[in-house]
This record gives sequence, structure tokens and C-alpha cells, in this order.
Amino acid sequence: SVRVRIAPSPTGNLHIGTARTAVFNWLFARNQQGKFILRVEDTDIERSKVEYTENIKSGLAWLGLNWDEGPFFQTERLDKYRQAIQTLMDKGLAYPCYCTPEELEQMRETQKANNQAPRYDNRHRNLSAEQIAEFEAQGRKPVIRFKIEDDQQILWNDLVRGKVIWQGSDLGGDMVIARAAEGDSFGQPLYNLAVVVDDMDMDISHVIRGEDHIANTAKQILLYQALGGKVPEFAHTPLILNPEGKKLSKRDGVTSIDDFRKMGFVAPALVNYMTLLGWTSPDGEEIFTLDEAATKFSLERVNKAGAKFDWDKLDWINSQYLHNTPAEDLLTALTPYWQEAGYEFDVETQKDWLLELTALISTSLTRLTDGVKETALFFASDVTLSDEAKDFVTQDGVKEVLGAVISATPDNVTEDDAKGIIKQVTKDLKVKKGLVMRSLRAGLTGELHGPDLIQTWLLLHKKGVAKSRLESLFN
Ligand code: GLU
Repeated sequence: SVRVRIAPSPTGNLHIGTARTAVFNWLFARNQQGKFILRVEDTDIERSKVEYTENIKSGLAWLGLNWDEGPFFQTERLDKYRQAIQTLMDKGLAYPCYCTPEELEQMRETQKANNQAPRYDNRHRNLSAEQIAEFEAQGRKPVIRFKIEDDQQILWNDLVRGKVIWQGSDLGGDMVIARAAEGDSFGQPLYNLAVVVDDMDMDISHVIRGEDHIANTAKQILLYQALGGKVPEFAHTPLILNPEGKKLSKRDGVTSIDDFRKMGFVAPALVNYMTLLGWTSPDGEEIFTLDEAATKFSLERVNKAGAKFDWDKLDWINSQYLHNTPAEDLLTALTPYWQEAGYEFDVETQKDWLLELTALISTSLTRLTDGVKETALFFASDVTLSDEAKDFVTQDGVKEVLGAVISATPDNVTEDDAKGIIKQVTKDLKVKKGLVMRSLRAGLTGELHGPDLIQTWLLLHKKGVAKSRLESLFN
């Protein structure tokens, strides 16, 4: 049966790259009726933080990427890694290396001087018992290295990239699988070792992760073989690139899922977009729910080439979702953005008015944050005229029109009243309807463009500010 995992390191907030990898794993698991497992790779004690773990969990949940098992924590599984390291040592496949940082540095310098790629030269592979005793007597603490034969070939059939071949000599020499012990404690196991122990233990059938892990895969396959484990299938997903074609990084402004949320993207749209970052639907569809995508998902349709991040496309997808969100839900989504902006309103007592406002602006939204800009004039008590509008209201006839509107407006205005007033004033003053409309808009909103005028007027009237706004132009 299919068992996949997402294995984030809690050294930062949930990252777009990790989230996209999670999307592909989740989709594959659902498509195959398999299990999706969350494993927190927190062995790097200095850099791992509980708040990052919380952020990763809440981010995955927000995106709808629920996990079937876990979260498991590597720090709770240290015994397993210690056992595996012991097994490798017992089999003669791993050994203590006592090189000091200075010795390693010197080795690298020499290699550099000879135009050689940096690598560990396996110098402590065959230490005698006397040499070991001498290093120990000096108080040196060894790292543990796993043997990698230069002439070894590592080969796998990658489910995205096809046949991949690595040469042992390209892996940098015998690799460190555990750091040096401090005091009495056991040396911290390193990523490649811990991952293999976990993936074996958790019976992972498919490892789907970023292309930046390809060299690790080669190393990990050797560890599976050494530990007698069944090698899983591998699928390496393309990197996410910025619009310039370079790897997406912090410098591109946003990298964490939180950032996208704050920018006003909604979870179903963001997850929809991430699905398209390196995958195409067989039917060419671009708007779908996670569940719909799951029915069509396959690793064969994951691209090898890097996936360029396309803001316009993300915006387009987000707007599709916003335009199709019921006003009630949209109001709930907009509320925190309005609160953040300092707008004053009461969701309980003004519910109907807020729902009408939401419905009025919904089709002009690309991001939820647009809902702040678009509604500003409805929440404000006074109107501020734009330069354009200022020019306009000084034109001939405008004040006359507005005066006539003010006197024709009853205390309660219905939609029919509003339309009737515009008609009446047009007729009485023998002006164009366009002039009446524009005058009203300028007076009510301070702008010459905006959402439906009648609805805007009614909303401002209900708030009790329509008349005073128009009157204020005469002061
Ligand atoms: N902790 C690793 C990372 O965040 C996991 C890689 C893997 O999936 O094995 O990159």
C-alpha cells in the first residue's frame, strides 16, 4: 500500500516549497488510497523551534492538507538512530573518524590547490586499535562515518526524472552520519541516516520531495542497502523558480505560507495554484478543489523543468475563488482585514449592511486585501475628494444637480426612489443623466469611478452619511 510523508524541519515557518511538496504527497496518497504522514525533522536542536512546528502544522491544516498519521518527532526516536548506527558499525560499514576541524580544513586547502573537488579522503577508515586509543587519550571525540565506495554505482528509476545514475566517487567520500558526542551523550544523528531509519520504520513506499535532494537520495539508497531495508520509489519534484528563472528565495519577498495569507490569498486558491506548480491536469483544467485534483493526479504528469512562479496566474485563480465565494463566507474572510485596517463596524448589529457591502465589491476583488481599499469610503465618516473629483465638482451645473438631489431625497430611500430621483433631476434641470450620475458619485464617494452607483448610494444612505456628504460640498 502507498505510504508517503512530508518531513519538514521546524527551522522556519511553513515554506512555499515544503507546502508544494506536501500538496503533491497528499494528492498522490489520496489518489492511491494511501496514507499521508507528517514527520517533524527536529534533530537540529539549535535551530528547531516549537513555534515553527506549530506554524507548519497550522499552515498545512489551513491549506486542507490533513495528515493521516503523526506528527512524529525525530527527537523522540533517537534510540532508533543510535541502534542503526551501531548496526552499521558492527557490520564494519561505519567507523569513528577523529579528524579535527583543522585537519579537515587543511585537507580541503590541499584539494583546492590541486584543483580537486572537496571531499573527505577516508583517512580514518582503517585506524588501528593503537591509533584509536591514542586519539581517545588526547580527548578527541569522533564523528561516525558511513563508507561510500568510489567505484560503486547507484541507480534508480525516478518517477519524475526517469533513470538516474550516480557514481560513488561523486558523493564526497565517506559521509558523516552522527556528529561527535558531547560529554556522555550520544552524537547527534544526521539527516541522511535519520531519514532512512524513519522511512524504513514508517514503511514509506514513495519518497516525493524536491529535486535539491537528489544527491541525498543516492546516499540514502546506500544506507537502505546497508541496513537491509527495502528501497522505496523516488520522485523528485522540480524547483520553484522566481519570474527570472532563479530558485525562489527569501529575496523574492514572500516564501512562507503566512506571507501569502497576509497578502490576501485564500487557502483553496493558493493550494490550487501550488498544484499547478509543476503538474498539469490531463484535461487541461486549472481550477479545481484538492479532492478533484486528487482524482486526476499522477506523478507521470509532474514536469522535470523548474516551475516558474507566476503572480498573475495566482491572482487570477484567487479572484476566481473570491468571485464565487458566498457573501456570508466572504464577509467572514474580510472581517479580520477590516479590523486590521482599523475600520469601525459591528458584525452583529450591522450584519445586513456588511453583507450588502461585501456583495457590492466582491467582483472587484483579486485579493482579500483589495477589500480594504474598495470599502474604505464606506467605513469613513467623511469623504475626501480625489483631484479628479475636485475639478469635476467645480464644473457648471454640478452643485445645482446635487442641490436638487438633496431636496428630492426622502429620509428613507429605496432602490426605486433612488432611480426615480436621478430621472426626475435629469428631467427638471434638463441635463444629461450622465452628469447627474457623475455628480452623485463624486459627492458621495469623492471618486469618479467605482462600484454600482445606486447600490453605493443606498449603502451610504443606510449608514446615514449620504446626505451629509452631499451637503458638505456646499460648505
Ligand atoms: N527535512 C528535510 C527537508 O525539509 C526533508 C527532506 C525529505 O523529504 O527527506 O528538506
